[in-house]
Amino acid sequence: AAKEHGGTRHRRYAPEMDERAGEEARLGAELRTALDTGQFRLVYQPIVSLPDGRIVSVEALIRWDHPDRGFVSPAEFIPVAEQNGLIVELGAWILRTACAQAMVWRNSLGDAAPERVSVNVSARQLAEPGFTELVASVLAWTGLGAQNLIVEVTETAVFGGGQAVQAVKDLHELGVRIALDDFGTGHSSLGLLQTVPVDVLKVDKSFVDNITMAGRHAVIATALIQVSNGLGLQAVAEGVETAEQATELHRLGYRLAQGYHFGKPVPEPDFRGAAVTIVA
Ligand code: C2E
Ligand code: MG
Ligand code: MG
Ligand code: MG
Repeated sequence: AAKEHGGTRHRRYAPEMDERAGEEARLGAELRTALDTGQFRLVYQPIVSLPDGRIVSVEALIRWDHPDRGFVSPAEFIPVAEQNGLIVELGAWILRTACAQAMVWRNSLGDAAPERVSVNVSARQLAEPGFTELVASVLAWTGLGAQNLIVEVTETAVFGGGQAVQAVKDLHELGVRIALDDFGTGHSSLGLLQTVPVDVLKVDKSFVDNITMAGRHAVIATALIQVSNGLGLQAVAEGVETAEQATELHRLGYRLAQGYHFGKPVPEPDFRGAAVTIVA
């Protein structure tokens, strides 16, 4: 009876799984076309200093303008690109495009240009042999300095150690800054700080969301700024949506923040325009 029940369950669940697998295969094939026909573009979100709101860096975020589906979230297609391996080629395009754009801003805006560009790098890219060489060649090709590039990695990407951690060490050696993205949501967040060279902690939005209400989030956000300061790292508060959150983060000691309150990701942020300031 148990076997029969299992069989029934299998039959009931299989079509959905097939559907999902089929959908992912379709999406994967379309990613190839998208890369070949220029359907991807990058947008840039300001990372600002508190309390003055000056844009110190920008995070490059990929957008896919699909001819039929319209907007497809990177949260949906990046994992598919990771799985079918296209992320290696796509990631190289992202890196080249972001670094080239940073140089365009430097050349056209001078001192008003953001000091750094921050690029998300996925686990598969990081573990790919020759990744450090790729970064070095992109820097040489664009003329951007290593100190002007931040590579954002997630805790899970470096959790396993191995080639990914070696790549992070090599990049750091090259002078590229390393940011731990979505910090506090993965495994062994604090443990990683002992083994991986990190320059920037991007404190996850989930800790910022309820920061204005005294409680667990505020306690954790406070602890993270202390860890950050103690280790000589920069902390960036992610997902800041209100002036109240910005004010509270500044009060807790945060000096860098990112979120819709300061600016959404756009093709060309207004670096000269008055940035949103907070009442400190
Ligand atoms: P992430 O690297 O943590 O990027 C931050 C995400 O939060 C972005 O979503 C950004 O648009 C969003 N965000 C920023 N401020 C706010 C806010 O105040 N409120 C809310 N609700 N959201 C905010 P996005 O662009 O959809 O990207 C989602 C994730 O997809 C990224 O998370 C990153 O993991 C991945 N991703 C995006 N672009 C790339 C890329 O070029 N390469 C790789 N490997 N991954 C990317
Ligand atoms: Mg990121
Ligand atoms: Mg993030
Ligand atoms: Mg995040």
